Amino acid sequence: MNIVILGAPGAGKGTQADIIMEKLHLVHVATGDLFRQALAKETPLGLQAKSYMEKGLLVPDKVTINMVLERIAQPDCISGCLFDGFPRNLGQAKALDKALGEQGKAIDKAVYVMVPDEELVRRLSGRWICRSCQTPYHMVSSPPREPGKCDKCGGELYQRSDDNEKTVRERLKVFFAETVPIINYYKKQDKLAEIDGNQDISRVAKKMVEVLQAIK
Ligand code: ADP
Ligand code: AMP
Repeated sequence: MNIVILGAPGAGKGTQADIIMEKLHLVHVATGDLFRQALAKETPLGLQAKSYMEKGLLVPDKVTINMVLERIAQPDCISGCLFDGFPRNLGQAKALDKALGEQGKAIDKAVYVMVPDEELVRRLSGRWICRSCQTPYHMVSSPPREPGKCDKCGGELYQRSDDNEKTVRERLKVFFAETVPIINYYKKQDKLAEIDGNQDISRVAKKMVEVLQAIK
């Protein structure tokens, strides 16, 4: 099974992916996490992505698509991936279809998690992330058991530098201009499911699992 989770920054894609990957045994492929890991290690990929990420812009397709193709060629991806933050424009969506098609696979479902803008801003301004395993927390809606420490791995929590108000506004603009058109792309292929993401985390997860378990 290959699934795309679509949604604006802060919609809860990473949060839901963490829950679903365990339930459905899928590999979580989050391009933002891959870029941040590369940046932390100061690899050439990370340095290429840095200036785009700081501005809230998309990293060029060539770089992003190559990174994803390398990731999905790894053996753990054989039985399926949960794509989070990718594809983010039509070029990426088509490149993903082509790559999966060459392996005799396809995207089975694209789940669009819908959340109003004011709630996105509230979520992003209170988001904390684990430096080691990337698990997201929120200081109000899903705080860690111990402040500043990841429940899962004990890693240090930090706030992303691109979760500031100015960059968040830019990222939302980019989402509406470049990513929203791919919602229609999956709709036309009859692969789109829309979920109300403006409910608590467990309700969204329940709905998401229902949708994915219904895939024939
Ligand atoms: P995305 O991966 O789509 O950018 P995240 O999963 O990182 O979003 O979630 C953004 C923030 O919102 C995090 O702080 C997370 O804990 C919080 N969050 C996620 N889902 C919900 C929800 N359903 N209700 C309230 N807060 C949520
Ligand atoms: P995210 O963690 O998904 O919010 O992504 C953080 C940043 O990484 C984005 O603002 C982009 O700069 C970059 N990025 C992540 N995924 C992609 C993608 N599919 N295409 C281009 N840039 C991306």
